[in-house]
Amino acid sequence: MSTLKNPSRIYGKVYVLRLGHRVGRDKRITTHVGLVARAFGANGFIIEGICDDSVMSSIAKALSIWGGHMLLDCGVQGLEYVKSWRESGGEVIHLTMYGLPLDDIIDYIRVSPKPKLIIVGAEKVERIYYNVSDYNIAVGHQPHSEVSALAIFLDRLFRGQWTNIEFEGAKLKIIPSIRGKRVVKIEY
Ligand code: SAM
Repeated sequence: MSTLKNPSRIYGKVYVLRLGHRVGRDKRITTHVGLVARAFGANGFIIEGICDDSVMSSIAKALSIWGGHMLLDCGVQGLEYVKSWRESGGEVIHLTMYGLPLDDIIDYIRVSPKPKLIIVGAEKVERIYYNVSDYNIAVGHQPHSEVSALAIFLDRLFRGQWTNIEFEGAKLKIIPSIRGKRVVKIEY
């Protein structure tokens, strides 16, 4: 099986910005957004507005046990972050059910060499983010979840190659098995 050590070498920097996290209520879903970002090949995960230690430590724990490298940050001012991302030459992709169909636009996004900031919301995303984003992209036009929208977007962006990522520094590795759980420790 071919391995993909670092998707950013092929696709450039891909960060995920989580807007509107509510401590307590969104702990589980924001953790899942971060875990999807890591597993599906993003190399940065940032929570806007607030720091929730339990979310950050869950993602840091996944990185420590299962490997891989990802920038983690929190408490940033969302709009400033987006503006400085664009000013430094990156592009911003906001996932929303109101946007343009994913399939119509993903090929343009994929060939662009610009660093990509993917925005996902919680309850309601402020109007300004629709205006400052380079792309507002819908993963279907039905309401579902930031977790599913992000997973499908990253899968399409990476053309499914995230399944071959080699998570460097992993302490554990799963041996696929027809039944049961086979996990081995990796010795370095
Ligand atoms: N009305 C919201 C919207 O604009 O998509 C749905 C809110 S949903 C609970 C939280 C987040 O999930 C949204 O901010 C968006 O990032 C993502 N999301 C949900 N459904 C989506 C879809 N069909 N396409 C793209 N993103 C979606």
